[in-house]
Amino acid sequence: MIADAAGRWRARDLDVLWHPCTQMREHHGGEGRAALPLVPIERGDGAWLVGRDGRRYLDAVSSWWTNLFGHAEPRIAAAIAAQATTLEQVILAGFSHAPAVELAERLLGIAPREAERAPLAKVFYADNGSAGVEVALKMAFHWFHNRGEHRRTKFIALENGYHGETLGALAVGDVPLYRRVYAPLLLEALFTPSPDAYLAEPGESPVQCAERAADALRILLEAHAGEICALILEPRVQCAGGMRMHDPLYLRRARELCDQHGVFLIADEIAVGFGRTGTLFACERDGVVPQYLTLSKTLGAGLPLAAMLTTPEIEDVAAERGYLFYTTHASDPLPAAVGLKVIEVILRDRFTERAAALGTRLKDGLVALQQRYECIGDVRGRGLLLGLDLVKDRRSRTPDPELAQRVARECLALGMMTSVVRGGFGIFRIAPPLTIEPGEIDLGLEIFHKALSRAL
Ligand code: PMP
Repeated sequence: MIADAAGRWRARDLDVLWHPCTQMREHHGGEGRAALPLVPIERGDGAWLVGRDGRRYLDAVSSWWTNLFGHAEPRIAAAIAAQATTLEQVILAGFSHAPAVELAERLLGIAPREAERAPLAKVFYADNGSAGVEVALKMAFHWFHNRGEHRRTKFIALENGYHGETLGALAVGDVPLYRRVYAPLLLEALFTPSPDAYLAEPGESPVQCAERAADALRILLEAHAGEICALILEPRVQCAGGMRMHDPLYLRRARELCDQHGVFLIADEIAVGFGRTGTLFACERDGVVPQYLTLSKTLGAGLPLAAMLTTPEIEDVAAERGYLFYTTHASDPLPAAVGLKVIEVILRDRFTERAAALGTRLKDGLVALQQRYECIGDVRGRGLLLGLDLVKDRRSRTPDPELAQRVARECLALGMMTSVVRGGFGIFRIAPPLTIEPGEIDLGLEIFHKALSRAL
């Protein structure tokens, strides 16, 4: 009876909705293809999602690494309720409100620092990650424009990087699935090799691989001297690109090279910021401070919010001629109040340490599975952000996307939500809420193991 209700719900949904990042044909089925069932969700409960049919699913990916504290966390819910009954929305152009100011103060207080460099000192808000990236790109361009450096119109980005879906953010992304169709519309970006340790040549260490990528960056910067506004990158983990990870050396070398060439560094920490990797910020561990630090996703704990932190030298972009980027909901009081609560909870409950410890438990469990199954080509992780590759053959590393899809379906049938990179890579992205309990990690490992053996 309840299951029928879920079926009816699916039909209603498919009648009227387009789902984001989804090939809708997969849900409709037909032409000999079985339909991939949408999962109607009724509510969330900690690390679990509960379907309309009452089935419970362990959330192994936190809606693409967004949810930090589990679903329906009481402290976040209370912060929303208190703010909603005080002031839910007022535009930040011409007005000021406590949540926006207090959150900015708090963010700047915890932002990464470097002894020799002015600290991040100003915050600009937006309402989603892509918009936050647009803010940084436009501001970097605008700064040079104000100085009469009109040749500086280009950005450098990393191969296999991802920064969002709006046209500017898409232009500096290099995941073909998202970019290909729109390529003729995009501003010019120059792509430099990723320091991705998975791409290390035979006998090359991750450090050497990072050195090689930094060398390529140096050559590109030299070839385009005076033309580049900024380098944008995802520090340490390329999440959408398949949880690909690199050695910290790259970030330090990139920082030096940007300084040498008078180019800004934009660190997109929309995915890695706020504790997932075991430190509050991914660049903090490496002692690198960018001129622009973009944050979103976890910052709003489920509400739309993005913040872009900058150094004082950028300030005159706003002073001269104004900086006119604005999206209506940039830092509404409601999400900003949640952002404040998020920071308070992360620090008070030491979530970064928890992410590091639980990440080790999860990675060890996956590595143990890798020792038993040839088809697990690689396991990598930083804190509670992990990637796992399924391959046809470990030596050639040929991906096995069909196996990955079968495993994902079995996981779902066994009660766990997973995320497989689209486009034939056979990669699982794993990012459970930081509140997940050790026993739930073990359960997740057990489910994955069972799903794998069923799918093989
Ligand atoms: N940058 C990174 C590193 C991301 O992971 C994402 C989202 N996956 C974005 C930018 C875009 O954020 P949004 O989806 O909120 O636009």
